Amino acid sequence: MLEVKGLRTYYFTLKGVVKAVDNVTFSLGKGEVLGVAGESGSGKSTLAWSLMGYVPPPGRIAGGQILLDGEDVAKMSEDELRRKVRWKKVSMIFQGAMNALTPVFTIEDQMAEPFIIHMNMTKREARERIVELLKEVGLDESFLRRYPHELSGGQKQRIVIAMALLLNPELVIADEPTTALDVVVQAQIMNLFKKIKKEYNISMIFITHDLSIIAEIADKVAVMYAGKVVELGTSEQIFLNPQHPYTQGLLKSIPKLRSKEKISWIPGTPPNLVTPPPGCRFHPRCPYVMDVCKRDEPPMVEVEPGHFVACHLISRR
Ligand code: ATP
Ligand code: SF4
Repeated sequence: MLEVKGLRTYYFTLKGVVKAVDNVTFSLGKGEVLGVAGESGSGKSTLAWSLMGYVPPPGRIAGGQILLDGEDVAKMSEDELRRKVRWKKVSMIFQGAMNALTPVFTIEDQMAEPFIIHMNMTKREARERIVELLKEVGLDESFLRRYPHELSGGQKQRIVIAMALLLNPELVIADEPTTALDVVVQAQIMNLFKKIKKEYNISMIFITHDLSIIAEIADKVAVMYAGKVVELGTSEQIFLNPQHPYTQGLLKSIPKLRSKEKISWIPGTPPNLVTPPPGCRFHPRCPYVMDVCKRDEPPMVEVEPGHFVACHLISRR
């Protein structure tokens, strides 16, 4: 359904070119969920915006392909993207979207617009469909007439999720969809996503720095570091057999209830993406760094079927 090949999305700033997504390749089948993990600034949101064909200026897609059902989103005009892709094939739950609901419109008014504009529905038809969608996300009809300030954080996030489903997209991208919520509401929202995954059989991309969220829902995981995917595999492969030192570091930083293993963290901070370190971008922070790591970029190697790792420790085995 989705094939991303050698995608490069850069921000052309006065200080230089920020290589926020640099040669990223992965694929996603129908009904599959991909989790994208990585520290802040690793390029996760930029990847998501690229898939929507909307990269905020001064950013733009500088190379590669985004094949959605065989058509290249990266090469489409703004008009084509609006007509064929955005919200219809790919929808996105933006980071903090629940706080960006328009305060002066009722939930019905905000939700009805796409039906009336894109699907030529009457107001009444739109209302019927919205009531169905509200039910899907666990809210009743009374929410139609409410304003955003009358809703709790969890209810607002349910509205935002319903809005992402409005036009029956094939792919929903959720960028940090639970970050601003307390843990109980986080769990409820994750249950809602699991229900949607089961009932709708749509593909989803979950972007988060929180690996425990990904463990709950993802079939596949891509670990990003400094604009690159450094490890890609099924959830089992990544969580049970992580091969890249960065993935191993991320996993060691998650507290586990029944483990005596000490929690540790990765020393240092991610690099500046205008002048990233040569060779392996992780080398200044890697406990296993070798001379070759400072010089040559590690190739992506398939270590077992479907499990890819970019690290010289692997390619030199
Ligand atoms: P977070 O988890 O904090 O949202 P992220 O992994 O989603 O981070 P991005 O927001 O995609 O990362 O940012 C990737 C890189 O691109 C960062 O170095 C960031 O500073 C840079 N960047 C993002 N937006 C812009 C912009 N509008 N102009 C210039 N640089 C930008
Ligand atoms: Fe560490 Fe070298 Fe592997 Fe990079 S390539 S993760 S520096 S061992």
